[in-house]
Amino acid sequence: MIWINGVLVSPGDRSLYGERMLRGHRVWDPYRSKFAALAHLGYGVDLPPSLRVLYLGAAHGTTVSHIADYVECVYAVEIAPRPMQDLLSLARQRGNIVSIMGDATRPEEYAPLLERVDLLYQDVASPCQAEIASAHRVFLKEGGLLLLMVKTRSIDTTADPDEVTRGVIEEISPSYRLKAVVPLDPYHRDHRALVCEGVK
Ligand code: SAM
Repeated sequence: MIWINGVLVSPGDRSLYGERMLRGHRVWDPYRSKFAALAHLGYGVDLPPSLRVLYLGAAHGTTVSHIADYVECVYAVEIAPRPMQDLLSLARQRGNIVSIMGDATRPEEYAPLLERVDLLYQDVASPCQAEIASAHRVFLKEGGLLLLMVKTRSIDTTADPDEVTRGVIEEISPSYRLKAVVPLDPYHRDHRALVCEGVK
């Protein structure tokens, strides 16, 4: 990942959603992107040009667009029609984003559009975040990485975020080995990033 004087950026040549430009790069704001927040907290993930990424919960494509500045291909899944329109328009501008309107709880419906990937990134505001991650293990290559952004309030609005996170870790443990749990404060409250490897 590219840092310019402590500012995380991606190598795009023009602003896409109003983000600041810095020396010909797009500034990647940790308050707008959990991926960027994770990097600011010291858990940045390498994004080499050959990487293939499956992104669940793409929304308007803010984070997708930055990842796509670095990597070969991003398969981006989103369920909601309105953000999907922005995502489609982004995919039309870029040759390396495959936008998929789909429900991440039903991966069998879009499985034929996918290939196995090096990085599975999940940022889905849904009560069944653990089931979704487990169901997508099959799309991750051996040695691949899962970054699961747990939005604890989507699972249980009242429970302690750490307790909710423990439940998710337990549920995905047959499919993934946990490497780190990273609270995303101060950038995203009540969110935890789980950094995991696929279990063989
Ligand atoms: N990752 C985005 C970013 O950084 O720009 C923000 C994602 S937003 C927090 C969560 C997204 O998950 C919403 O756009 C929502 O529509 C989507 N979502 C919720 N349930 C989903 C499902 N079952 N399948 C796919 N997307 C889903």
